[in-house]
Amino acid sequence: MCATEAKNNAELSEYKDVWVFIEQAQGEVAPVSWELLGVGKKLAEQSGGRLAGVLLGHEVGNLTQEIFDYGAELVYVIDEPVLRDYRTGPYAKGLVDLVQKYKPEIFLMGATTLGRDLSGAVATTLETGLTADCTELSIDPGTRLLLQTRPAFGGNILATIVCKNHRPQMATVRPRVMPMPEKGQVRKGEVIKEKLGLKEEDIRTKIIQLVQEKGAAVYLDKAEIIVAGGRGIGSKENFKILEELAGVLGGTLGASRAAVEAGWLGLEYQVGQTGLTVRPKVYFAIGISGAIQHLVGMQTSDVIVAINKDPEAPIFKVATFGIVGDYMEVVPALTEEFRQKLNGTAGREV
Ligand SMILES: Cc1cc2nc3c(=O)[nH]c(=O)nc-3n(C[C@H](O)[C@H](O)[C@H](O)COP(=O)(O)OP(=O)(O)OC[C@H]3O[C@@H](n4cnc5c(N)ncnc54)[C@H](O)[C@@H]3O)c2cc1C
Repeated sequence: MCATEAKNNAELSEYKDVWVFIEQAQGEVAPVSWELLGVGKKLAEQSGGRLAGVLLGHEVGNLTQEIFDYGAELVYVIDEPVLRDYRTGPYAKGLVDLVQKYKPEIFLMGATTLGRDLSGAVATTLETGLTADCTELSIDPGTRLLLQTRPAFGGNILATIVCKNHRPQMATVRPRVMPMPEKGQVRKGEVIKEKLGLKEEDIRTKIIQLVQEKGAAVYLDKAEIIVAGGRGIGSKENFKILEELAGVLGGTLGASRAAVEAGWLGLEYQVGQTGLTVRPKVYFAIGISGAIQHLVGMQTSDVIVAINKDPEAPIFKVATFGIVGDYMEVVPALTEEFRQKLNGTAGREV
């Protein structure tokens, strides 16, 4: 081992603990933060470090208890008026300062709109690596490196990426990819408060107004039942057949990229690698072949019901229940059966 390598190894060994960024807006925590605390706990156990939550915002102190309940042993908090609403500059500065002072070995963030923006800014400032959209995280028992697995080359292979020479090892994970952990008993932990050291005059970005998006929002990643259609549905008009089923079950519609590209449903309905990752209780895949790029977005659903006229369609490999047939016959029959069984007890949330 050369002297530079030895120095580098000594510097890297100063980095300990697993950190999870607790994303919040107006005091409401993004559920992906709890999911990350779940996986973070396992990583901390494997690496021998402590699990910490990192919380930035204004008047957010009431959230620390919940962070402990999800398994964190300590919480770093910067609570200041300039952090009330998210802005890249001050949030990135807060996290970079904390990392430089407390040296975490691993730093996880949700691959949300905010998390994608913030993680990139933090990683580039710290000159460390960042693996986006990981689907698996574990510790290599030999090297103690974080194994960051994610789809690569259009989703056709899974690549495992390591960050050997820089710290922290940073990764983002999409909502719903990791299971939601059980909230533990009420626990105690250590709260470490820090200052941001920025005044409003120092910040170039100003928030003039927050405007809530209008229209019927589609919260596919929170839906418990999704009735998704693909190219096999054939037309926008035919999606009404799926809408009927979704209505009876109180579910929401979803789509493959082929159906979105055909203009049958909006992009907000797309499930898969370039759409949303979903984890509903029941996922109906209707007229969807089961390309890997679609599967990565839905294969962890509790129950998958595939309806396809091709018995060889790859979707049947991940399906809990498979029905080979023309959806135009199968779906109306299912809808009627559910309607009678449920007797109008389910709500219409299409
Ligand atoms: C980089 C990259 C990213 C991508 N991201 C995504 C993504 O996020 N999400 C996504 O979905 N795709 C994505 N794709 C596209 C993906 O590779 C597939 O092309 C796409 O998922 C196919 O959609 P589909 O299953 O609806 O269509 P097809 O593959 O054409 O399948 C249609 C299916 O319908 C069945 N069918 C036809 N008629 C009927 C009928 N009457 N009754 C029952 N079944 C019928 C057929 O047997 C067939 O299996 C991506 C591709 C790339 C390269």
